[in-house]
Amino acid sequence: MKAIDVHVHPSTLPFSHSRLWGAEVAQSAEKYYRTTEKIRSDEEMAQDFKDLDVKALIIGWDAGAGMGYETSDTNDEVANLIKKFPDTFIGGWAMIDPWKGKLAVKELERCIKELGLTGLKFQQAAQAFFPNDRRFYPLYEKCVELKIPVSFHTGTTGLGAGMPGGNGLRLEHVKPIPYIDDVAADFPELTIVMIHPAWPWHEEQIAVLLHKANVYADLSGWAPKYFPEAIKREVNGRLQDKFMFGSDYPDIPPKRWLEEFEGGGYKPEVIEKVLYKNAQRILKFTI
Ligand SMILES: [Zn+2]
Repeated sequence: MKAIDVHVHPSTLPFSHSRLWGAEVAQSAEKYYRTTEKIRSDEEMAQDFKDLDVKALIIGWDAGAGMGYETSDTNDEVANLIKKFPDTFIGGWAMIDPWKGKLAVKELERCIKELGLTGLKFQQAAQAFFPNDRRFYPLYEKCVELKIPVSFHTGTTGLGAGMPGGNGLRLEHVKPIPYIDDVAADFPELTIVMIHPAWPWHEEQIAVLLHKANVYADLSGWAPKYFPEAIKREVNGRLQDKFMFGSDYPDIPPKRWLEEFEGGGYKPEVIEKVLYKNAQRILKFTI
């Protein structure tokens, strides 16, 4: 195994951008990422990772209340892909609309106990909530009880980018301080992963990573050559045990990410840690 990609969106039909986000947001996001969506079969998607000898954690989607869309049951689809290709897709992040209240907590329990998913993921800009709002604390309590990690989007987002009013999405929702820092302080037993270099708040992200032992980050959503300099320095230095490889497949191809990262001037032991050793330790994967 070359690496564990902790941040992968399925590129199969149930996860098509227009189905998850609506046609307009999908179009603007493609423009922002300069990509055209390609729908793959389950087999084609798994092959993309087999070709690279990369294991992956795949991600669901559920942001109906914030986005104004009724989304399909993607957690079941995530579980199906894992069941079909267990050697490639070694885990999955459930995504659950936190505004579902008690039903969200029930769905989390179902996703972990029945579907076999391995973590919970939020996209707070799309889901329109602040992580430190006490109304959502029962979800984190359930994560602690189930001994699973939770991940939060940080930094700007391609969703709504370039649209009037960003299609109503608020960047304030995805700032590390105080929102994620507060959750980390209130739940010291909870493993928290900040998703993406958190530009333009990557300095805040670094501060939280330095201060809270239970907080980590993935490096998805950015081609490594564009990482902010401060992030590059921390990855190669004092925070080398905190960052994990994530691509944001299919928008960022893992092949490109890996090539740029491996050619990015990082120490060999740092490359090993970021590519898989940190994920094995932090997310407790014994492969
Ligand atoms: Zn993503």
